[in-house]
Amino acid sequence: MAETHAFEGRWSLITGGASGIGLACAQALAQEGSALVLLDVDAAGLAAARSRLSSLGVAVETREVDVSDAAALEGIAADLDARGVRVEHMVLAAGVLQPMHGIDTLDLAVHDRVWRINYHGSYHCCRLWGERMRVVGRGAIVTVSSVTAQRATPLLAYGPAKAALENLTASLSVAYAPHGVRINAVAPGFTLTQALQDKIDAGLRDADAILSQVPMGRFATPQEIAASVRFLLSDQAAAVTGTTLVVDCGWLAGSGWQT
Ligand code: NAD
Repeated sequence: MAETHAFEGRWSLITGGASGIGLACAQALAQEGSALVLLDVDAAGLAAARSRLSSLGVAVETREVDVSDAAALEGIAADLDARGVRVEHMVLAAGVLQPMHGIDTLDLAVHDRVWRINYHGSYHCCRLWGERMRVVGRGAIVTVSSVTAQRATPLLAYGPAKAALENLTASLSVAYAPHGVRINAVAPGFTLTQALQDKIDAGLRDADAILSQVPMGRFATPQEIAASVRFLLSDQAAAVTGTTLVVDCGWLAGSGWQT
């Protein structure tokens, strides 16, 4: 995509910005001139992302934080306020997968952690920065869901947490709409991040088995997810709010009745 500088001079906050889809979103926004605040638990990943993204000529702030820690996020919001950083765009990409278990064997601590990161972390960020956008009367947010929100799967914490995130997204869109703030979700299907590639290389995931379920016969790339996020944040999507954009190479459409 050609550089348009559409986000020039604006701050974008990205959770999970140290790797994968969050990092690809950071790169896409930086290429269009956005200054960045990256939040992640991965300190080394944040440092690498900062040096890579700073070379694009934009300001990059990083904060090592667990998004499920509401008090720590409040501290970051207060610090950014004090330094005059006004967040206009937000991408909520921090997330963790879970081991596959039945409801009888899924460890409750794992279940609760998956919810705290995938759902509550995004809720906390909306409570802080979505509210600031509402007061100012301008802003756009994208939550990162998953196709698992919309189908029965063996991911009994992850899928329901993502479904709740999509409902939160729709619900907040109504509350924000009169105040100039939009919020949408992107639901990726199987996306070839470095983490997934490493699992395939280690023999922990079978790429052929996954791709046999995908009508286009390939993975989405983090950059393709970022392109949809960028669209939803941009003024090109000025009339779009409360929706979920599925980016899955056809997986959802193809997961119906197979003859
Ligand atoms: P990833 O592991 O590369 O990126 C996730 C990032 O979130 C990492 O940098 C990680 O350190 C960070 N993170 C994890 N827990 C955190 C916490 N408690 N606080 C702050 N940061 C935390 O994975 P990804 O595939 O790029 O995932 C990004 C988002 O996309 C996730 O929400 C995931 O559920 C979603 N998703 C991914 C796929 C896929 O196939 N890759 C498919 C559907 C949805």
